[in-house]
Amino acid sequence: MPDIIHLLPDSVANQIAAGEVVQRPASAVKELMENSMDAGADFIQLIVKDSGKSLIKVIDNGKGMSETDARMAFERHATSKIKTAEDIFAIHTKGFRGEALASIAAVAQVELKTRQEGQDLGTCLRVEGSKVLSQEFCNTSPGTQIEVKNLFFNIPARRNFLKSNNVELRHIIDEFERVALAHPSVHFSFVHNNSELFDLPMAQLRQRIVNVFGGKFNEKLVPVEEKTPILELSGFIGKPQFAKKTRGEQFFFANNRFIKNAYLHKAVCNAFEGLISENTHPSYFLYLKLDPAKIDVNIHPTKTEIKFEDEKAIYTIIRTAVKHSLGQFNIAPSLDFETDQQFAMPTPPKGIQVNPPGILVDPTFNPFNDPKEKKGGGFTDKSHPASHSLSSQKANQDWESVLNSLPEIETESGIQQSSGIESGQDNIKNFIQIGKKYILTNHGEGMIVIHQQRAHERILFDKLYASVENNNIPSQQLLFPQNITFAAPDFQVMQSLMPVLRELGFDIDEFGKNEVVINGIPLYLEAGELQTVLEKLIEKEKDFADNGPQEHYKMIAATMARVSAVKPGISMSREEMQALTDELFATQSPYVS
Ligand code: ADP
Ligand code: MG
Repeated sequence: MPDIIHLLPDSVANQIAAGEVVQRPASAVKELMENSMDAGADFIQLIVKDSGKSLIKVIDNGKGMSETDARMAFERHATSKIKTAEDIFAIHTKGFRGEALASIAAVAQVELKTRQEGQDLGTCLRVEGSKVLSQEFCNTSPGTQIEVKNLFFNIPARRNFLKSNNVELRHIIDEFERVALAHPSVHFSFVHNNSELFDLPMAQLRQRIVNVFGGKFNEKLVPVEEKTPILELSGFIGKPQFAKKTRGEQFFFANNRFIKNAYLHKAVCNAFEGLISENTHPSYFLYLKLDPAKIDVNIHPTKTEIKFEDEKAIYTIIRTAVKHSLGQFNIAPSLDFETDQQFAMPTPPKGIQVNPPGILVDPTFNPFNDPKEKKGGGFTDKSHPASHSLSSQKANQDWESVLNSLPEIETESGIQQSSGIESGQDNIKNFIQIGKKYILTNHGEGMIVIHQQRAHERILFDKLYASVENNNIPSQQLLFPQNITFAAPDFQVMQSLMPVLRELGFDIDEFGKNEVVINGIPLYLEAGELQTVLEKLIEKEKDFADNGPQEHYKMIAATMARVSAVKPGISMSREEMQALTDELFATQSPYVS
């Protein structure tokens, strides 16, 4: 039998390694930016085309490489960062495995230009699918720039596996944000398809967070600070009232490297317990500084999960420090009054079946029957205590007695009553607004309590959605066109939303950098809410699992309805209550918000 074992050629070995290091354009971005950080750069530019599918370019002003190092850098297990296995336990750099450049060059067309300070000429090296095509001297500024073109050009299966441009770009933005947040003292910029998404000058951490996530973030942040022998903790948490429905800005950094750790995440959530509702998520930006020897770094380079030696102690320190900050900034007691009322949807406890409100009409009821018989009525449907079932006869009596007692109730603040002009007449509806939140009115033979905001939401949703379905979208021109500016990444989302918004009755166009101008809006929308509507839409759009245009329209219509609906605290006239109630019962499902 001949021998059958042979060594794989380097190019094949590198491609296999690349599968682990480079899963998508964002992984290459991460590796390249980390190399620039390790090279001591304080200005790093990221230039990307087609969500990294055709170009990823990173330019830094770091220490550069010598001619020989430039060549060596592309060899597997070639690193300047460790010499012995023990060094791994004292690692202060991002990389140390010497795999990234070799892996990237195995699956892309790479051009490296690098020059060390003090050298007249730099080195230009071109590598394609692990093959060095050329190496020559060149003019280039001090530092390093690497162009990665046509990622996975030689592995079509991997290339086809990439997600849509939106998704891949989102991954790149995530990586960029993580590196940028870990290093506020470094100037970063990010240009995608010739438009600048971020320009983040050197700053203090708080300013960096605001520069990344937008001006409104400043008021949301509360500092966290704790020094213990095993851990120095610093950073910010978001105030509870800004907790979001979607998992948003949650960042842990260990020794300036972004990490994920479910256990420590629980520590933060635990500190927030009772301050935010169960289905919302707190924001945090927490920086852990600890002895590198106490962290298990001997894990895969692209994995962000890391292990700590004193995990329990770290948990307690984080939880306590976050609680302390929440208390110190007096956030806990004021919470009850600051929760976002607009979106407060009471949710029933798990496992409890909620019956939709229903009205049972007694079909045998005859108003001309002997009044004595009525006395025998009452709440007949005893088997259905949860449903609001009323015997119609008793209901009528009760209703009358409610109305008779109204003048007294009226004096109480927050209750408005408007009854029919001649209350003896049939078909006259009576309306009472309670706590500027609920409308009480007669309905059929009984009465009904309507949550004004949710009713209005339902009406608006139906109208907006119906207009799309019928392809008949009433729009109103704005007297004063509105201009709205967005943070650059949000503007990208806005751009992709614009065609759909036009179909929903918006007259909206791009207007200069990161700005839109709105000339017209759907008939049912309030111009005053425009900015909020668009911001909410962008937030929803980011989390939208693309499951078809119908669902997309629904999501947009629901978001617009929610923002524009009349809020609790608004008093309504009789006419308004009448209109709202009539419109509500003209919708397809008046009982469901
Ligand atoms: P690692 O970062 O794990 O050492 P890489 O493959 O990412 O492995 O890089 C290999 C080596 O190339 C690095 O150790 C470093 O010496 C050099 N290098 C890579 N990128 C840069 C850069 N932007 N500036 C200077 N040196 C770099
Ligand atoms: Mg590296």
